[in-house]
Amino acid sequence: MLYKNLAEIYEALGSTTKRLEKIDILADFLKTLKQEDKEVLYLLLGDIYPAYDERKIGISNQLAIKAISKATGISEKDVVKEWKAIGDLGKVAEKLTKKKKQATLHTSPLTTQKVLENLRKLPELEGKGTIEKKISFIVELLTSALPIEALYLVRTLIGDLRIGIQESTIRDAMAVAFFDVKDAKQKKEIADKIQSAIDRSNDIALVFDIAKKGKVKDLEKIPVQVGKPIKVMLAQKVSSIKDGFEKLGKPCAIEYKYDGFRLLIHKTSDNEVKLFTRRLENVTKQFPEVVEYVKKYVKGDSFILDAEAIGFDRKTKRYKPFQEISQRIKRKYHIEELEKELPVEVNVFDILYYNGKSLLDEPFKKRTELIKKIVENKPFKIVCSKQIITDSEKEAERFYKKALKDNQEGVMMKSLSAAYQPGSRVGHMLKIKPEEKDYDLVIVGAEYGTGKRAGWLSSFILACLDTETGKFLEVGKVGTGIKEKSSAESGGISFEELTEKLKPYIISEKGREVKIKPKIVVSVTYQEIQKSPNYSSGFALRFPRFTALRPDKPLSEITTLNEIREDYEKQRGKTKS
Ligand code: AMP
Repeated sequence: MLYKNLAEIYEALGSTTKRLEKIDILADFLKTLKQEDKEVLYLLLGDIYPAYDERKIGISNQLAIKAISKATGISEKDVVKEWKAIGDLGKVAEKLTKKKKQATLHTSPLTTQKVLENLRKLPELEGKGTIEKKISFIVELLTSALPIEALYLVRTLIGDLRIGIQESTIRDAMAVAFFDVKDAKQKKEIADKIQSAIDRSNDIALVFDIAKKGKVKDLEKIPVQVGKPIKVMLAQKVSSIKDGFEKLGKPCAIEYKYDGFRLLIHKTSDNEVKLFTRRLENVTKQFPEVVEYVKKYVKGDSFILDAEAIGFDRKTKRYKPFQEISQRIKRKYHIEELEKELPVEVNVFDILYYNGKSLLDEPFKKRTELIKKIVENKPFKIVCSKQIITDSEKEAERFYKKALKDNQEGVMMKSLSAAYQPGSRVGHMLKIKPEEKDYDLVIVGAEYGTGKRAGWLSSFILACLDTETGKFLEVGKVGTGIKEKSSAESGGISFEELTEKLKPYIISEKGREVKIKPKIVVSVTYQEIQKSPNYSSGFALRFPRFTALRPDKPLSEITTLNEIREDYEKQRGKTKS
């Protein structure tokens, strides 16, 4: 397939903001897409590999500027000047390529294969001369690109495609393109089946291959694969044990809700252990002790376990809140020191696969029984989650109180008969925690400080997720809770550190204000929600306070506009009474 066609489809998709129109455009495109070209779907999502693959393009604005300069023969300084004026590096590349093309003859046309081939070399490069090599692979593409191709190529490189396509848009387009759907209900059912195939495989091109045949049964057969990350099952919230029993029926399982981070543990039949976060990131290297515990204390030839890792204090043996151990997830160096300083205990609460067989469709009761058989309880290393199975509200309440006393967040209530549904927020696994006003939001903008904070970003615009459109909508600004100075003390983050984290994702600057690509997720507390015309969500948080970075949370799992709307209504109800 010629890349030219891809640029055309990018253009078409970017030309409308209406989701349904995007779906129709995509559906037509999918109908003509040949099997051998299916990897173009990764490019449509701004990626080069399936979602389960960790290799990302990872090119900074600075490197892209160097490549544009080299490819077009215009000085870096002038490229930056154009960037400041236009605010979109892709458009800069388009403009400068146009200028250059008038002077030279167009070389061989760019194919999708060539684009993927060169882009895939970028994350592989390491060591001396890496930057030069990266630039030369990009320049090779840019010099054969048409102006419009240069635009999308550069946007792909810096991870800011701006065509408004998510996995869910491709999912819905597949439902339209390949299945004979008659009404909205049926459309949703098919879309759910496709979604479940995506959640199991995390490979949109693989799902396309199967969906294309138009058989729902085939979609259901897409297997889980040990060694490849899988999306986790998510919980819904209820406000009391009583509500939980009402939803699930009696008896049900009740477990501690540990205040740590989700860890998916894979062991393959060749005795390799891999650890993934709920963001599908491979964190095996960061947790060598967990690999050892799994090999020593879990029986089985191959398996996938779902667990929560929690930090504890080696001396007092008290559990620590998440923010104190979050740094272990991202740390790539001095891992041994950090392992000593911030040890974790793994609490296993589910199993998805065992000795060559998927257990997704087995009832939870069977899965939890199996865990108890195969995990040897080794406190402060690896254990089965604390659990009771009961039909007594009193007993459940006692257990809940005990969980809170043990410094955990609350409890989970789980139906004994339910299957494991990767990627879904299900009504058969419920979380209960004391009323607390906290949200997980993403930073989409910031402002440079003045005075002693000059040079650092010091006020951060937060956004929630609008699940209808996939857009991130602003809900307020936070500056409180962030430290003035970096310190070795665990937990907090300083303005300087946060600025460094955000810098690679700055999209544009205007005066002291910067726009930031939604990447960095943070937890905040707040006092109240207000209606506000100043923010695109229509709501503003009063007195938000930063509490933790959430490197483990994917963007799809941050607080949604609907949740904020519901909380606002609840709050209104309370102030009225
Ligand atoms: P939330 O992150 O607030 O949506 O709450 C659900 C999270 O609780 C899950 O994603 C897990 O990371 C965590 N969790 C802690 N303990 C358990 C447990 N026993 N069963 C399931 N999830 C748990």
